[in-house]
Amino acid sequence: MIVILTGAPGAGKGTQATLLSERCGYATLSTGQALRKQVKLGSDIGKIAGELMDQGKLVPDDVLFKIVEAELGEPTEKVFLLDGYPRNLSQSETLDTLNDRHPVKVAIELFVPRDELVKRLSGRRVCSDCGANYHVDMAPTKNEGVCDKCNAEVIQRKDDNPESVATRLDIFEENTKPILGYYDGKGLLNRVDGTGSTEEIFERLKGVIESL
Ligand code: AMP
Repeated sequence: MIVILTGAPGAGKGTQATLLSERCGYATLSTGQALRKQVKLGSDIGKIAGELMDQGKLVPDDVLFKIVEAELGEPTEKVFLLDGYPRNLSQSETLDTLNDRHPVKVAIELFVPRDELVKRLSGRRVCSDCGANYHVDMAPTKNEGVCDKCNAEVIQRKDDNPESVATRLDIFEENTKPILGYYDGKGLLNRVDGTGSTEEIFERLKGVIESL
């Protein structure tokens, strides 16, 4: 069964999806991370996605659906967390075509005010290999520039520059917010406060998922 983790860029979806996967054993797909892997590999998908991602724009829906359908695999009773998909109404509708095999049980909106999002994104750093998230002030690495988990280089994402951040936040408002109404209409929306400590937010999300 699918649990959608949605929210603006910088809301903490990636950090929380990783924790939920590590501690609760949920399968997870971060579409952003899957695309970054393709860009690094220089694959056909990576070639389509790279420039759009750097600019903070959405990658075409058909590319995303191919990735998501392949990763979901066989139907299972277990929780499958989708981090960053769907990101517009058309993606929500396409995901529903898999409903008999992979039903959406809840869409969780991790809510964080815009000024806090900008602060988080401008200081964000990520591991170039495993994708672990850090923040220069709020969650620094133990050794500067080196991932605590895998020792690879920690970098600033290309799309965390001010222009791309503004584009991504606008796209969230225009394209992604409508999916909240879509899931609300189906009685599947759950809004979770995305502010506070990582542990507090984790407990809130775990509570929602365990209540399913
Ligand atoms: P994220 O890591 O979730 O912030 O995603 C980084 C970038 O990957 C986004 O700004 C988009 O360019 C692309 N991306 C990720 N997920 C999607 C999606 N569901 N639809 C279209 N583009 C996506």
